[in-house]
Amino acid sequence: MSEVFVVVEHRLGEIRDITFEMLWQAGELAQEHSYGVTAILLGHDVNSIAEAISDRADKIIIYDDERLKNFNADIYKEIIAGLIEESKPTLTLIGNTAWGMELAPCLAVRTGFPLATDCIDIDFRDGKLTVQRQMYSGKIYSNVSFSPSPGYLLTIRSGVFSKDRIGERQAQIVRKDFPLKEEPLKKQFIEFAEAAAGEVDISQADLIVSVGRGIGEEENIALVKELADALNGVLSCSRPIVDKNWLPKYLQVGSSGKSVTPKVYIAVGISGAFQHLQGITGAGTIIAINKDPKAPIFRAADYGIVDDLFKIVPFLKEKVLETSQG
Ligand SMILES: Cc1cc2nc3c(=O)[nH]c(=O)nc-3n(C[C@H](O)[C@H](O)[C@H](O)COP(=O)(O)OP(=O)(O)OC[C@H]3O[C@@H](n4cnc5c(N)ncnc54)[C@H](O)[C@@H]3O)c2cc1C
Repeated sequence: MSEVFVVVEHRLGEIRDITFEMLWQAGELAQEHSYGVTAILLGHDVNSIAEAISDRADKIIIYDDERLKNFNADIYKEIIAGLIEESKPTLTLIGNTAWGMELAPCLAVRTGFPLATDCIDIDFRDGKLTVQRQMYSGKIYSNVSFSPSPGYLLTIRSGVFSKDRIGERQAQIVRKDFPLKEEPLKKQFIEFAEAAAGEVDISQADLIVSVGRGIGEEENIALVKELADALNGVLSCSRPIVDKNWLPKYLQVGSSGKSVTPKVYIAVGISGAFQHLQGITGAGTIIAINKDPKAPIFRAADYGIVDDLFKIVPFLKEKVLETSQG
């Protein structure tokens, strides 16, 4: 193995967490095999972004140009395909994000390299690459292997790998000029339309208390919010709570909501349907409170309390407040 490319994802001057997660995974692979981690950074005025990842890669290849100010898959594809032809990296990692889902397939067609999308694990042993993906909305885990190829393209699911730095690195900066004679003009950037942000971003929270249909009535949600507040955490929920319009969509965890990566996730009155569990694969310690001992959430939980949430949640809140005051 020679080199792993990580396509740096950023928006409005901010690095996306997926970039750190891919650099962590690339670093893990680099520790097992003797090859380099190369970050590919396209954009305009991106010095601060390069600075922020300079201790996570061995090399950062930068294309800094006004024409790269906004993401355009057609332009990215041409530039990255040229780099792949030149450097022949064994793996190219791209986020399984709106960016990556547009970029990766056309890059696969352009390079002829095999592509596996939405990977949640990567194993490279004896020259053989295997990745893990989920199928049927997360009901089945599949291990995917590839026919031998000079290089492979993978998109990586957000929130699965650590954001931590791995290994000691000091990146060599390589600056390149915008290489295209003509810009492909099939698409044009018009504007950023931000989704309604809401007050909190649950994907960034360290401690989450999540409420499910077991709460029974809308007015009871306050009980769970009080526990979240006492713990200095944030409130999130399962989908039925959003479907009933009891809480906004941006607080929903799961396959059609957000993936979260808190250190602690407390599931209150949540059964643990696979669509919900899909959103907490990156959570640290999972604690479940559910009166049904057979609820599937207990299979995912590190700690479980089999009891009535209306007894346990106020009790926990009191204990937390007592401890923080005393
Ligand atoms: C395409 C698709 C996408 C979906 N995406 C998502 C998603 O992103 N996120 C998501 O969450 N769901 C999603 N769902 C829905 C999912 O299938 C489940 O229906 C949902 O997660 C169930 O939510 P719940 O656990 O809150 O409710 P339930 O399954 O009804 O569970 C309620 C739980 O509360 C417990 N309970 C009841 N009363 C008490 C009490 N007093 N004390 C303690 N425990 C109690 C019960 O034992 C039960 O286990 C999706 C479904 C589909 C088809």
